[in-house]
Amino acid sequence: MAATRRAPLVLFRRINSPAFLSNSSRYSSLRLPLQRPTPTTTTFKTSKSHQYLRPFSSTSRLQNESLLHAERESDQVDVVIVGGGPAGLSAAIRLKQLANASNNADFRVLLLEKAGDMGAHILSGAVVEPSALNELLPDWNSPDNPARFEGVTAVTSDRMRFLTKKRAIPIPGPPQMKNHGNFIVSLNEMVKWLAERAEEVGVEVYPGFAASEVLYGPDGGVMGVATNDLGVGRDGKPKASFERGMEFHARCTLFAEGCHGSLTKNVIKKFDLRRDSQPQTYGLGLKEVWEIKPENFVKGQVSHTIGWPLPNNTYGGSWMYHFGENKVSLGLVVGLDYPNPYLSPYSEFQRMKHHPFFSSVLADGKCISYGARALNEGGFQSIPKVSFPGGALIGDTAGFLNVPKIKGTHTSMKSGMLAADATYTALTEKTSGTVMLYAYEDALRTSTIWKELKQVRNMRPSFHNPLGLIGGVLYSGLEAYILKGHVPWTLKHPTPDHAATLPASHPSVRKISYPKPDGVLSFDILTSVSRTGTNHEEDQPVHLRVKDWQAHARREFPRFDGLESRFCPAGVYEYVEEDGGGLGVRFQINAQNCIHCKTCDIKAPSQDIEWSTPQGGEGPKYYLT
Ligand SMILES: Cc1cc2nc3c(=O)[nH]c(=O)nc-3n(C[C@H](O)[C@H](O)[C@H](O)COP(=O)(O)OP(=O)(O)OC[C@H]3O[C@@H](n4cnc5c(N)ncnc54)[C@H](O)[C@@H]3O)c2cc1C
Ligand code: SF4
Repeated sequence: MAATRRAPLVLFRRINSPAFLSNSSRYSSLRLPLQRPTPTTTTFKTSKSHQYLRPFSSTSRLQNESLLHAERESDQVDVVIVGGGPAGLSAAIRLKQLANASNNADFRVLLLEKAGDMGAHILSGAVVEPSALNELLPDWNSPDNPARFEGVTAVTSDRMRFLTKKRAIPIPGPPQMKNHGNFIVSLNEMVKWLAERAEEVGVEVYPGFAASEVLYGPDGGVMGVATNDLGVGRDGKPKASFERGMEFHARCTLFAEGCHGSLTKNVIKKFDLRRDSQPQTYGLGLKEVWEIKPENFVKGQVSHTIGWPLPNNTYGGSWMYHFGENKVSLGLVVGLDYPNPYLSPYSEFQRMKHHPFFSSVLADGKCISYGARALNEGGFQSIPKVSFPGGALIGDTAGFLNVPKIKGTHTSMKSGMLAADATYTALTEKTSGTVMLYAYEDALRTSTIWKELKQVRNMRPSFHNPLGLIGGVLYSGLEAYILKGHVPWTLKHPTPDHAATLPASHPSVRKISYPKPDGVLSFDILTSVSRTGTNHEEDQPVHLRVKDWQAHARREFPRFDGLESRFCPAGVYEYVEEDGGGLGVRFQINAQNCIHCKTCDIKAPSQDIEWSTPQGGEGPKYYLT
């Protein structure tokens, strides 16, 4: 266990470094993450790399590639948490609550978040069940609490509609979609607030730090993570602003990266955590926030739809939540097992808003925010083993989202708290050696998470039936009202999402021609991307890793006719027309537009696109998402 509470000088130095400051200066509101006094003691190991961390006087590009392999500085803490969403922050708060209650204030919990500001990469619906929040911070909404979370709107009514092209037909919603007692929030606002609560109890919260590498100890267990180097050019060589990444060593590392975490992928593979589970499956959620006219606003109203504009062979549905003052959160989720390579989730969402069900609400309003993020749809049968030597998976990175409810915040938070309980006990009972969080795995199985996910396990896979959407709705109704999961079977997900796409030449595939955006209700993709605040330094290695762009184009373009340019909700991938070369197109990656939704890593048919963390602090800067 770390001996004394120490402010990590190494981090303090980094946020004042030329690379970090030049990176963060784009964000006018970026606050320095560590509003802490300059530390008087250091805890990191000095190493031969120390000299390289000083600011460079020369501005010329450094050719010395050995810098890239210089030893990194390291800091030893008790627990490292990767990802500052609901899961990571709940785990962090719970750990420090336990430590503080035992007068163990020196117990160090350090949380790394890739967004420049806490919450800036969070996108959700969001109607939140308050169960986990009530347990973690019982006074979160109390009028007596001056630091209560104020951004909540109580749900007042629920509506479920089946959309045809022109009509919205009322249908009964499943019990899972009843939201009495729940709250509409902007999850990105709520996460900012949670991060403040975490700092209050002594968690070391570091936004702007992307964990890019898992560190394994001599016994093969996870011993922490490393952040990526700053100031590396697109050619892979160190620039004048180069600064080596840092290592954070801990006896326990909790991965809370959200849906399809990039380090989690590595850990799942390394420890074969999917040996007893089915593949994870996903949806892509696209969201906008609108400010609407007061006469169209019904505070607390929650609506969900299925049907149009998605075809019968594609799972998905929309939401529209009235919250705050004249604000509407609306969005569309599209199951990423859609078969038609010509389908564009972004364009489906844009045309959806022209349906009278939405256009009547949005009329004369203003779109103020846009974003997109993948979410887990695999449910119960896709939960991997969650513990491994030296740590555990928590929240959506493990896949605790309840699909029929479209809710994962409460389960993510609860899993973080269960992992925190197990971690604190393990670290305090056994003060050396690699920890195994068996107690977390066991606690999950007896928790409310397990119960609720097991009950709805057959609903999502039931949409794979010859009747498509209609068959899925009928079977899900049966499950929701009568069977309630008490059946001896567990339906399987037929394929991973990347394998579900049909080639463009398949006889059942039809080209889709989408209407041109009108600039009032619907927008072109670059206008939408401009509403995400996304930015990435251009002169850095492309974080969407494709080994050979042209080989990729030669293999994928003839088969899928430019699928990537349609599945990406931020216009990152393009096939640019080009004479010569035989193919007639050149594959291009506009990495600076990426909004970190992870769809490409999930849906690319040959699984040859790898999403990796760009420099910390980059990516979207979401507002009210
Ligand atoms: C479109 C959509 C609608 C939804 N609607 C609802 C809803 O209405 N109600 C509900 O309860 N749930 C909803 N959910 C689900 C809910 O948002 C998630 O279950 C919840 O956010 C999961 O929390 P998490 O902490 O596990 O992950 P996340 O919220 O995704 O947070 C993960 C954090 O980790 C950071 N991170 C990732 N990798 C790294 C790294 N390598 N280094 C540093 N930081 C990293 C990310 O930037 C992010 O801040 C919705 C989700 C989506 C996408
Ligand atoms: S490049 Fe990939 S992760 Fe980035 S926005 Fe496009 S699909 Fe999402």
